[in-house]
This record gives sequence, C-alpha cells and structure tokens, in this order.
Amino acid sequence: MKTPKDQLSLTLNTSDQIPQLGLGVFKVDDDVCEQIVLDALEIGYRHIDTAMIYRNEAAVGRAIAQSGIPRDELFITTKLWNADQGEETTPVALQTSLDLLGLDFVDLYLIHWPAPLRDKSVASWLALEQLRAAGLAKAIGVSNFEPEHLEQVLEAGSVVPAINQVELHPAFQQRELRAFQEPLGIITEAWGPLGQGKYELSELPGLTEIAEAHGKSIQQIVLRWHLQEGLVVFPKTVRKERLVENFSVFDFVLSEQEMAALVAMDADRRVGTHPRDGNW
Ligand code: NAD
Repeated sequence: MKTPKDQLSLTLNTSDQIPQLGLGVFKVDDDVCEQIVLDALEIGYRHIDTAMIYRNEAAVGRAIAQSGIPRDELFITTKLWNADQGEETTPVALQTSLDLLGLDFVDLYLIHWPAPLRDKSVASWLALEQLRAAGLAKAIGVSNFEPEHLEQVLEAGSVVPAINQVELHPAFQQRELRAFQEPLGIITEAWGPLGQGKYELSELPGLTEIAEAHGKSIQQIVLRWHLQEGLVVFPKTVRKERLVENFSVFDFVLSEQEMAALVAMDADRRVGTHPRDGNW
C-alpha cells in the first residue's frame, strides 16, 4: 500500500509498507463500528485492526466500501480466532473474514493467540503460509507469541512472521521479546498502547510534565513514544474527538531525554491475559 506522505510507516518483510498508526476496534459493537471507522478514514486513518472474535468485520467492511478510498491506500488486518486454528479450518476462517469485510485480500492476517493447550499454532502457521502464497493475505504474522511460540513456527515454517502483535505500553515495554524479534526482522505491534485504561497514565512519573512541555495530552505523548520506538500502534476509541486527538501526533518530536524518561517507566505491569493462558 501507499502510506500518505504526512504519516509514518514501516516496511514489512514482504517489502510492503504498514502505516505505523491506525485504529483498533476491539470491543466496538458492530452498530457503532461502521460510523467510527468511517470517521477515522475521513480524518486520515488508513490502517484498521480488527479480528474475527471482535464480531465487527462486517461493519469495518461497510465503512471501507462507503468511504470510496482505493483499496491500495488501506491497510486492513484481521485475526484467526483460537477455535478456528488448524490446517483445514484456517482457510475457511480467512474466507469468512474476507466475505464479512467484503475484500479479496487482507493486508495482514494474524494468529490471534498461540493457545498452547490447543497445540495447533504450527499447523495454523503452515496454513497461513499457503494463504499468503495464494494472495489472500499480503502479509502474515502472529499475536501474543512468546519467544518459545515463535521458535516453533520458525522451525516448522518457511516464512518469518512479519509481525507479532503483543500487549505493550509504557508500564509494560516487552524489551526481552523485542530484543528476540529484532534480528529476525519481526515488527512489533503494540496492543493496549494506552494500557487499556486499566491504570492512570498520569501516575507515570514525569509524563504530565512532558505533555505540558509539548502542549499535548498524555495520551498523545504515549502514542508518539510508540512511534519513535519503531512500534505499530492502533489505539481504540469510539469518540470522534479522541480519534482526532490520537491522530494528531505527527507534528512534534520527543527528545532523546524524553524518550529515556518514558523508557524508565517500564514496570513489568501486564494488564491483559498472559499468552500461556489465552486458550479460550
Ligand atoms: P487501548 O490502550 O487502545 O485503550 C483503549 C482505551 O483508552 C479506551 O477505553 C478508550 O476510551 C481510551 N482512550 C483512547 N484514546 C484516548 C484518549 N485520547 N484520551 C483518553 N482515553 C483514551 O486498548 P485496546 O483497545 O485494548 O488496544 C488497542 C487495539 O489493540 C484494540 O482495539 C485491538 O485492535 C488491539 N488488541 C489486540 C489484542 C490481541 O490479543 N491481539 C488484545 C487487545 C487489543
């Protein structure tokens, strides 16, 4: 895809571009989702992160169709749900997602959780490789994979995941996992980039002062930090004014000192499910 010039992007291991900032639609009901995605696209967002389990792929699809934006200017991600993992069920699940989205291909298809107790992530990965070869997913990756889960797909497969989408925010920075992924060229996407609202960002030492210095909100500072860390990020909101706020992060730069202050906020504070427990 072509990322607009006034936005930031990264290059995937497929050589395609991914816009670094997008909109996530976890827990956005189908009836609200269409308008929010339309609003986001109007504001300038070109990257939408959904999943089969969010049950709003049809709404995302309706918004895409209504927007009239050319397909090659959009980056659409969806995810394989745990119950659909497996050699034969994976292609059916992707086709269902594509039908709901009204698309011929997704830009990125992810295995949502390693679900170790199901023990099907390797079989699913090999199926994803086939789907990529067939052009139904331009890039393939994983989500919530720990190094041990990545090692399994790297050993069995012939394609290196383009992405690992994991919980990541200032109080939970995933340094070890990122150090493992970086030499492999696996880009990290941060879910819950604002801590899912499960702790007060204002409690992070020094964050309010940095926000005041830039005349920005603490959320904007946190999102800008993600971008400068080389992460992909898609904060969720159902409020139009926050869509605008979260997208207004391309007009300032955090200094080295400010970046270091945010790095120092790491507190190993996971707010979501541990990957070993995500076996639903
Ligand atoms: P998030 O960190 O984006 O937090 C969302 C919360 O922050 C919402 O309650 C929202 O009201 C609030 N918020 C957003 N913008 C704000 C602003 N400017 N000011 C104040 N509050 C603001 O958490 P998330 O939605 O869980 O994560 C983002 C996306 O990541 C999801 O929508 C989804 O696409 C993806 N995700 C993936 C997984 C996975 O397992 N792969 C898990 C969770 C989320």
